[in-house]
Amino acid sequence: MRPPLRPPVRHRRAAATAAAAAAVAATAALALGGCSAASTAGEAGSPIVTSFYPIQFATQQVVGNAAEVTVLTRPGAEPHDLELAPQDIGGMTRARLVVYADGFQPAVDEAVGLVDGAKVLDVAAAAKLVPASADEPGHEGESPGQHEEHAKHDEHGHGADDPHFWLDPSRYAAVAQAISARLSADDPAKASTYARNTAVFVEKLSQLDDELRVGLRQCRTKQLVTSHGAFAYLAARYGFHQQGITGMSPEAEPSAAALKAVSDLVSSAGVTTIYQETLVEPHFAQTVAQSTGAKVATLDPIEGITSATRGSDYFEVMRSNLATLREGQGCS
Ligand SMILES: [Zn+2]
Repeated sequence: MRPPLRPPVRHRRAAATAAAAAAVAATAALALGGCSAASTAGEAGSPIVTSFYPIQFATQQVVGNAAEVTVLTRPGAEPHDLELAPQDIGGMTRARLVVYADGFQPAVDEAVGLVDGAKVLDVAAAAKLVPASADEPGHEGESPGQHEEHAKHDEHGHGADDPHFWLDPSRYAAVAQAISARLSADDPAKASTYARNTAVFVEKLSQLDDELRVGLRQCRTKQLVTSHGAFAYLAARYGFHQQGITGMSPEAEPSAAALKAVSDLVSSAGVTTIYQETLVEPHFAQTVAQSTGAKVATLDPIEGITSATRGSDYFEVMRSNLATLREGQGCS
């Protein structure tokens, strides 16, 4: 069981720091207590720690059976607001490698500061992240008061990069290649295994990309209305325009004016399906659907796999998303 580390939002950073300090103290005590403790940190036998599902899955595909891969975000947990227990942070400091994407999970970004920089891989650069689109209703035309309210909820911050790279298979492939390159450099004896595994994974991603391109080529509407703005990279790759109801952060609450703007867009663009998500409260998607007569369907941003997920891994869920989009957008 994890300790109930659930402080209010504004105290989250302080709590993470306290947990981090406790973990460092524990690690230091361990090092003092035994002559071998310090030297075992980060050796080849210790696991590769990943931050959340898409990075875990890509790392597992690259590694195969060659190393243990663990994940900080439990299945079913909403990853944006992850909080780390002291043992999570302790595990990071002992990991052979920590793989994460900077700017997605503030608690991980902070804890990474406690890990030896030589044992950290940030995949954000490989994913070629770009700033979140400014045309989400939570970001556009909001008053200074709304801005403050929004910023309080949105820990990605304004102008921050959109982290949802895995929903574009080509960006996801680039991340897998970066993970493979790093693991090969750290462990040259297994480089050919990593290269072979990565080639298989990249080929599967390429097939998926082809299916998405063909399946989404001819659609009645290319306007996509989603709950949180997770699908901008997917939208950009396959010719859609995304409007996220709550902006980038699933926790943000859109204003009445923002909801009205989305409803107007739904009507003017001929949108007939609003997409809710598996890990996000569907309230706002349903509000917009009710006011416009649109249907609600579930599109999965694949931030975690649960028993409710339609598919047991990234590929299955992406194909389920493809079927949902073809139906919802009227693609032929
Ligand atoms: Zn997200």
